[in-house]
Amino acid sequence: LNSVLFENAVVVTMDGAGTLFDPGWLLVEENTIVGLGPMETLPSDPAARDRMADRRVDARGGILMPGFVNVHTHISMAPFRGLGEDRPDRLRRFLFPLEKRFVDKSLVYDGARFGLIEMAKSGTTCFADMYYFEAEVARAADEAGLRAILGETIVDFSAPDAAEPYGGLEYARRFVSDWMGHPRVSPSFAPHAPYTVDAEHLKIAAAEAEKRGLILQMHVAEAADESARFTASHGSTVKYLDSIGVLSPRLLAAHVVYADDADIALLAARDVAVAHCPQSNAKAGRPIAPAKRMADAGVRVGLATDGPLSGNGMDMQTIVSWYPKLQKVRELKRDTVTAKEAAYAATIGGARALGLGELTGSIEVGKRADLALFDTDSFGVQPIHDVYSTIVYSLKASDARSVLVDGAFVVDERTMVGIDESEAMARLMETAARVGAAAADL
Ligand SMILES: [Zn+2]
Repeated sequence: LNSVLFENAVVVTMDGAGTLFDPGWLLVEENTIVGLGPMETLPSDPAARDRMADRRVDARGGILMPGFVNVHTHISMAPFRGLGEDRPDRLRRFLFPLEKRFVDKSLVYDGARFGLIEMAKSGTTCFADMYYFEAEVARAADEAGLRAILGETIVDFSAPDAAEPYGGLEYARRFVSDWMGHPRVSPSFAPHAPYTVDAEHLKIAAAEAEKRGLILQMHVAEAADESARFTASHGSTVKYLDSIGVLSPRLLAAHVVYADDADIALLAARDVAVAHCPQSNAKAGRPIAPAKRMADAGVRVGLATDGPLSGNGMDMQTIVSWYPKLQKVRELKRDTVTAKEAAYAATIGGARALGLGELTGSIEVGKRADLALFDTDSFGVQPIHDVYSTIVYSLKASDARSVLVDGAFVVDERTMVGIDESEAMARLMETAARVGAAAADL
């Protein structure tokens, strides 16, 4: 039996009752959390503790919490990070030509390995991703040991891995059948957006997802021209999607920055999940999504980095603080989103948005051991008066010490386990140099 006993941790469970143990312990057996409690309930005899587990970890007062859940990203875009910032026509001028020229299996695989290291080493245990050659992301996620929901992007133009418009649909069907049943890496369908996929193909993708019980990932109401177009035709992008039957509990809608109260009510009524990407939206000069209003209306809202081109950093520590800060600015109220609410949104909230709330996202006996242990002994973190405030506003990505997914260490004492970090860095730098040289001519 593979087992780990964490001791002397501030155990932050993110369960329904807000249970905290400070100091506390937690026991993992195989892939499951089997016990936890305050330190005084552990046997004081070290030999007795040795008998409880194969391995004991002294958390030294660090925070042990459910790993972050990043519900929307495109990790393979790592080589493009920082290119063409602040250009008004960035997507068309830089990204599309570069993707057309450079995106192939090896770029996607290398970019995914790089992104997985960045995510895991900052405490993320589970993520949702959509891009091209998504089978390469799946392969990398499998090696890294993270939990993932992955979708091949479907668009109405020729893509790096599909010559014909909507060629992604055929790729997606193959990808889904190849990865169905994997214990950690779940396939999904990922039409790009309502403005790049027509109603007929949206319905097909939604029906395929429904038939197989899978998530449907899509960018929704993210752009001003998209919103103007569907507001003119149907009242709003959300109303348009409802009119073609795409709003459902399977839909994971990324961004949703253009949504009024009627849209929010509709999203709640159809039990749609929303991936809120505050940093990426702010960088692009888009409106602040009504994320807290959606959450209050009952919409399942998770937090996300978006891709390395749009959001840059792939660590959720940054995002978990952007969420309350921007919502406070939006509503002009200090307590719009409390630190505790933000911490929950970044963990169990994300798990629920991905339909994984029964499996992961909180520390509860019987749930999978998807955990992040953060050191708290740095100058930027101390003192800790309120652990949720510390998690949301003080912890840095670099404070992540160890990360487990499904009971296995994916980061062990700050070192990635499943992927060689220096090799992944070298390969990424090589691709980034080629992409950067080409971008200089654009
Ligand atoms: Zn996106």
